[in-house]
Amino acid sequence: MHTKDQILELDRTDTFAHKRKEFLIPEDVIYLDGNSLGPSTKAARASVTKALNEEWQTDLIASWNKHHWIDLPKKTADKIAKLIGAKGTSVTCCDSISVNLFKLINAALSLSDNRKVVVSEENNFPTDLYITQGIQSLIGKHRCELKTVTKNRIMSSLNHEVAVLLLTHVDFRTGEMLDMQRITEQAHKNGTLVIWDLAHSAGAVPLQLDRWKVDFAVGCGYKYLNGGPGSPAFVYVNEQHLENVEQPLSGWMGHKSPFDFRAQYQPAESIDKFLCGTPPILSLAALNGALDVFQNVRMKNVREKSEALKQCFLTTLKNSADIPSDLKLVTPANPLQQGSQLSFTHEYAYELSQALIEQKVIVDFRAPNIVRFGFTPLYLSFDNVHQAATTLSDILVNKTFLAERFKTRSKVT
Ligand SMILES: *Cc1c(COP(=O)(O)O)cnc(C)c1O
Repeated sequence: MHTKDQILELDRTDTFAHKRKEFLIPEDVIYLDGNSLGPSTKAARASVTKALNEEWQTDLIASWNKHHWIDLPKKTADKIAKLIGAKGTSVTCCDSISVNLFKLINAALSLSDNRKVVVSEENNFPTDLYITQGIQSLIGKHRCELKTVTKNRIMSSLNHEVAVLLLTHVDFRTGEMLDMQRITEQAHKNGTLVIWDLAHSAGAVPLQLDRWKVDFAVGCGYKYLNGGPGSPAFVYVNEQHLENVEQPLSGWMGHKSPFDFRAQYQPAESIDKFLCGTPPILSLAALNGALDVFQNVRMKNVREKSEALKQCFLTTLKNSADIPSDLKLVTPANPLQQGSQLSFTHEYAYELSQALIEQKVIVDFRAPNIVRFGFTPLYLSFDNVHQAATTLSDILVNKTFLAERFKTRSKVT
């Protein structure tokens, strides 16, 4: 399986092959880190250039109206809504995931009367746990009590005392994907509200937030959505909660009429109530532009190609020369339980990731011992993935990762 001819054939019939030219990726680079920072696109570049040269520079403050800067969070969110199975009225774009989690956890707790327990998973992304811990010390353990469980205890931890279930859909370390629909349904049977972190899901896997009756969600602009470093995140609030829900970061942009400058806060009735301060227009311009790459793209097809790319990678690896057995796949073998990344553990995971990067196969390392490979169908070819697996195999067989130069660690890993 996957001979050179088959790889060429897969690329020849790839319906996303034409998409690659919409991205700005150095020619000699195989970029398997779009799960961590999506690459630049021509559309993002054009959008930022326009905001700088034709809007800010030319029309200055008038741009808020003339170029509709004030509507940019909503306009950007409308494009994201289409990718996550949500109505546009349920999504807005602002702040970071961390800040939005602060809003949502408080919002969900205030909807659930006498309950105080927030259940999360012990290997959840640290910021999800840190923000909950912060809320716990801010409002007191009698109103917010974090309990963490292992993944296989999520279902059994649900009971009538749990106010909020806070989960990440695709595990950032292992790439394991949870069954969002089933877990949400089970939580609701216990009267528990669910907040999903979609950092590794939006733009990577098909989602149906409205249909699955998800209560709240947050997601990342700079990963699979390619919005650029530090790009704004997004917030989803199910329409059934919009009217009653309140969030504590009551900044002026969330006010019903910010430009009346009244002394008393009165939240907007729409999803705008989840905004806080002035939107970062240049960052939003990048994200709004980048999202045009997804126009006419069906997430179902993205998923299909992502699965085929992962398969191609694994098969190539298996067929390569004797791979030492200390490289272990920690992503579940069942494709239904996989997001769009494959993760391996290795004793020299950091050095291995550096050796790959030296060969222009860009991957990343997650402490203590994981190397992650992200599969992003809009700009990766089967040939890219085949070459990446061959490079990995060569490095493992020749043990080049043991070289002294791969040992130094930078601040960001
Ligand atoms: C990347 C990531 C974040 C990032 O949070 P920010 O506050 O936007 O930096 C949050 N959660 C998960 C699961 C992530 O992977």
